[in-house]
Amino acid sequence: MAKHEKISEAVVRRLPIYLRYLSYLQQVEVTTVSSQQMGRNLDVNPAQIRKDLAAFGDFGKKGIGYDVNYLVEQIRQILKLTDEIRVALVGAGNLGHAISNYNAYLKDNMRIAAIFDSNPNKVGNELAGLTIQPLDELAETIAAKQIKLAIITVPAPAAQSVCDLLTQAGIKGILNFAPTTIRAPKDVRIHYADVTSNLQSLAYYLT
Ligand code: ATP
Repeated sequence: MAKHEKISEAVVRRLPIYLRYLSYLQQVEVTTVSSQQMGRNLDVNPAQIRKDLAAFGDFGKKGIGYDVNYLVEQIRQILKLTDEIRVALVGAGNLGHAISNYNAYLKDNMRIAAIFDSNPNKVGNELAGLTIQPLDELAETIAAKQIKLAIITVPAPAAQSVCDLLTQAGIKGILNFAPTTIRAPKDVRIHYADVTSNLQSLAYYLT
């Protein structure tokens, strides 16, 4: 495989979508797929798919298409999904409950491995097979379980302090559901799943 120092953000965002479709093809025992077929199913331009994948080496065979199993392996490697990735969740409220219970559907060796909350009435309760832990156990648990990613589902005013705790504990990527901007050191990646602002953007397109 070609060495890929820097993959563009757009490609990094498309690869999981390719992977999801390819995993489905594996399930239904389809062994090869063309970029046209992928493009039709994913609503992505086939030329875009070929270009994205060519950046990592010559996976496709002209006239035959891509070997599904091989491509799945390559994409998993590129996305670093080959080892189990453990995720911490902070904030076991309504949203935190929903996401924790969604755990079973997280694919590709990814799972929520620890849940934290500051409310003493919640600490010690079971959620999705885990015991909700207090924040003073956060750093130790994250280190012990080698957790690298985190989900924030606390109210907006608490998000920055939780982000600080997480980054001090060595977390390198955060998916923030709190409706607020948070700041972290440069080597920590933050993605936002801000439901309200997403809906507000959609409102603009209403006619
Ligand atoms: P509930 O009413 O059951 O608390 P909720 O979803 O309405 O649910 P929110 O106020 O949105 O609750 O808070 C989400 C969760 O985040 C709660 O469980 C709350 O205890 C927790 N929380 C709030 N502040 C912090 C913090 N600084 N650190 C960790 N967890 C926090």
